[in-house]
Amino acid sequence: MELNERAELDTSQANDLGRGSGGGGGGMGIPIPGGGGRGGIIGIVVAVLIALLGGGFGLNAMTNGDDGSQGGGGGDLEQACGTANPDRLQDARCRNLLYVNSIQAYWQKEYPELGNGKYEPTTTNFFQQAVNTGCGQADSGVGPFYCPADKLVYIDLSFYDELATRFGAKGEFAQPYVLAHEYGHHIQDLLGTNAKAGQGDQSGPKSASVRLELQADCYAGAWAKHATESKDKSGQQPLFKSITEADISQAVDTAEAIGDDSIQERSGGKVNPDQFTHGTSEQRKRWFTQGYDGGDPKNCDTFGTDQL
Ligand SMILES: [Zn+2]
Repeated sequence: MELNERAELDTSQANDLGRGSGGGGGGMGIPIPGGGGRGGIIGIVVAVLIALLGGGFGLNAMTNGDDGSQGGGGGDLEQACGTANPDRLQDARCRNLLYVNSIQAYWQKEYPELGNGKYEPTTTNFFQQAVNTGCGQADSGVGPFYCPADKLVYIDLSFYDELATRFGAKGEFAQPYVLAHEYGHHIQDLLGTNAKAGQGDQSGPKSASVRLELQADCYAGAWAKHATESKDKSGQQPLFKSITEADISQAVDTAEAIGDDSIQERSGGKVNPDQFTHGTSEQRKRWFTQGYDGGDPKNCDTFGTDQL
């Protein structure tokens, strides 16, 4: 993958919130059933976080979370990622901003094809350790997530290190895959798919949760197919100069690494399909590829098929 050094980034699409305070008052709120830690989407009252991996986090009520704003200061992305800074693409925040710009440029164009009006852009919040969200307070342990209540994407960029070391998903293209998956949840939110799926089963091999997650992988694949066509803020420059087969393989490898069965095996447990929330490695890989091959989100109907 080669990013375009000349691209003008739209810094309004991301915020750097800096470090939230996560330690206070007894730590993570909700014990994770089954002890695996990374098994499930956890819904708290009306708020549901849709995390890449699921599980492993606790949410406290927002009323309880008045400490997030007292953490370390965030950064000014406008300054950090502006074209005046020649080193900006060495900054992970700016690279991730570029990916977000590309993903949203894609959906600006593609979303209306889905017959539900115009795309509504949303912002990605970079945080460290802990963050207050419309879905409550979240900890980095949750992994990147989309919060339907405030319609924002949240990511602690240190997650990518964990992805590389703990899950063996190395390679830069894991990062845009992760973001494109989270924006897939935003698309589902705009389409009303999230809300509908929220009424279905939240775990199990054919659960609504698994269907939702595999669809987000498929949407990520559809974006990847068209990523090199996406233009920068000026509309003049491509954001990517190139994306190679090797990059796509990194995305596929990442999808594979974070399949429910692989995560369950890695955490020393037996594979238990009843606890699946995101789909198996094989499924995640296959649905990303399904999106990528056709380059069309209409091929991502995970709810209308028995062939999950
Ligand atoms: Zn997800």
